[in-house]
Amino acid sequence: MQTRLTVPISAQNIDQAKQQIKEARDCGAEMLELRTDYLENLTVDMVRELVADIKKAPGGNLPVIVTCRDKAEGGMREYPQQLRIDVLVAGLKAGAEFIDFEFNSYMPTSNQARIRVALSQSLKGRLILSAHSFESRFPSISMLRRRMAIVAPAAIPKIVYTANHINDCFDAFDLLHNTGGDRIVFCMGKAGIISRIIAKKLGSFLSFASLDQQSATAAGQLTIEQFIKRYHYHSINAQTGLYGVIGSPIAHSLSPAIHNTGFTAAGLNKLYLPLLVEGGSEEFDNFLRGILARGWLGFEGLSVTIPHKENAYRYITVKNGQVDPLSRRIGAVNTIVTGPDGRLRAYNTDYSAAMDSITSAANITRDGLKKMPVSIIGAGGISRTIVAALADTGAEITIFNRTLSRAENLADEFNCRAAPLKDLPDTTAKLLINCTSVGMYPNIDETPVPQEYLKKDMVVFDTIYNPAQTLLLKQAKKAGAKTIDGISMFVNQALAQFKFFTGQDGDRDMMRKVVTENLGH
Ligand code: NAP
Repeated sequence: MQTRLTVPISAQNIDQAKQQIKEARDCGAEMLELRTDYLENLTVDMVRELVADIKKAPGGNLPVIVTCRDKAEGGMREYPQQLRIDVLVAGLKAGAEFIDFEFNSYMPTSNQARIRVALSQSLKGRLILSAHSFESRFPSISMLRRRMAIVAPAAIPKIVYTANHINDCFDAFDLLHNTGGDRIVFCMGKAGIISRIIAKKLGSFLSFASLDQQSATAAGQLTIEQFIKRYHYHSINAQTGLYGVIGSPIAHSLSPAIHNTGFTAAGLNKLYLPLLVEGGSEEFDNFLRGILARGWLGFEGLSVTIPHKENAYRYITVKNGQVDPLSRRIGAVNTIVTGPDGRLRAYNTDYSAAMDSITSAANITRDGLKKMPVSIIGAGGISRTIVAALADTGAEITIFNRTLSRAENLADEFNCRAAPLKDLPDTTAKLLINCTSVGMYPNIDETPVPQEYLKKDMVVFDTIYNPAQTLLLKQAKKAGAKTIDGISMFVNQALAQFKFFTGQDGDRDMMRKVVTENLGH
């Protein structure tokens, strides 16, 4: 069953609407929704003209939905109910394939009668019966679906609600999975974004995409460009394997762009999503339990980022999954896959990524790091991972941090030294690593290490990847030091994840290009 990528036309006047219709066609829309409630001074003649315009356009007859949304259910303007029905009837007469009318508005028998007559006089017209909840989930969407089917058995039910948390999306997934035929179910809001994409895998009748951010008609609507280019909409089908990165915030993660480009280049039917899991361990557990209980969703592998790496480690150990020894020492994982035995396996690709970046740039083996004096600035999550990995090689580590007690705790755990930032001038390190966010976009004129401390015989590694060339790295280069940027570590961890996800080697240059291009935006 085809899930039509549907673009709402949300213009204020006829000329603007015609322009949007043309742009939607050019962008690859598979269906249009005329949101006539956005038009100023709406008349039935305007609707006739627009439907006729769509129908006679060269290059294909796009199916069209005519909607005049009730203000109480998210309509743009307050139009009288009689006009709203007149508009739908006119739309059908002009050749529209679908009209959308709210379930609540349809309940009065007089309204039903007019709509039924208009539908019976139309050769192909069908009713989309819609229900919206802008605050939260419906008490029972399966019950709502049954009530809709009783009132209008031939209609396409459309059930849309705001997901206040990603875990609210499971109701929508279950309804799509448990019902057949034409139906539209998805969630609004940023927590509901994935439901708009997964809707295609689960065979929803349509999914909405806006022309651009400004013309979106509902919260969380993706643009048609994001759908097609980032989420490879046309390749999604019932067999598509799902992957994603769990984190909060997650909207700016580069992982979906990297992995989706990698999957497509390798010709794999896999899709990688941003999974916004807000809250703490309870919400994380509920999400993981939710997707694991629904094998039909097809999740095959997950990345995990801030703030859930420790939650992921705890979940996997409690569930008796497999975790490698160094990840155990770090107490955090960033990759989860299901092994061939059905057991969950978790890995930390950050530490091997950091080590690979260091050894290849400095042209040394891991053994060569033994006894090497290393200064690490910062004592947060990424510092912990790099300290654990370097301590494993026998490097002589000093951790410098703004909050000394944090550095001391980390140093105690991994048997190294701690010092306040003011002691940095005395560093005799051969390897200096910035694990703070100082110098990260937008504060690109900052550096955690004054220029005079940087020496020719040092290797300087900045874990920040936005920008790639931080002030620290620019100044280190000037001093004649070897430098390593954060992109190399980011790409290394993505390559390791890609291998766990697919069993194949990813393309390093392509991944680096995707990161650089996306940072450029
Ligand atoms: P985190 O846990 O929040 O730790 C942040 C660290 O930065 C803490 O040590 C903090 O010191 C220090 N810090 C923050 N602002 C500071 C300031 N104004 N002056 C001095 N110190 C300051 O963060 P994280 O997860 O470790 O991430 C740190 C950096 O690593 C980020 O910039 C991120 O871009 C980078 N990173 C890179 C990759 C990659 O693949 N390349 C992966 C993950 C993270 P206090 O303890 O005193 O607060």
